[in-house]
Amino acid sequence: MPYDDNNIFARILRGEIPAKKVYEDECVLAFHDIGAKAPVHVLVIPKGKFVSIADFGANASEPEIVGFYRAVSKVAHDLGLVENGFRTIANTGVNGGQEVPHFHVHLLGGKPMGAMVQD
Ligand code: AMP
Repeated sequence: MPYDDNNIFARILRGEIPAKKVYEDECVLAFHDIGAKAPVHVLVIPKGKFVSIADFGANASEPEIVGFYRAVSKVAHDLGLVENGFRTIANTGVNGGQEVPHFHVHLLGGKPMGAMVQD
């Protein structure tokens, strides 16, 4: 699937749509999910144009990959999620239920997150 420059996260990265930012550096932006499903629900996205985790792992540069996962860890620490634990989700494609076709990791925490997937 080709990258869609008009997806909502691309528009957030261009500053066309506001976001409640929690962290930003040269490779990554993290912001609160607008439809929070937990007391803490943050999305971490790379600034590069990657459709999914599959695209990112296959095609991103090593600095982009390292920068991304370091940032996921930093945000989890900075938001106080590490001590009691949290969940990371990267929905991918149709079966994964991915709504926004720009790679993102959800960080969910602040309460026990329950079963991994619904039956
Ligand atoms: P996914 O199903 O993994 O693609 O999740 C997309 C997520 O993006 C959902 O949890 C939405 O609530 C969230 N979302 C959509 N639009 C925005 C927005 N403008 N700002 C923040 N989060 C958003």
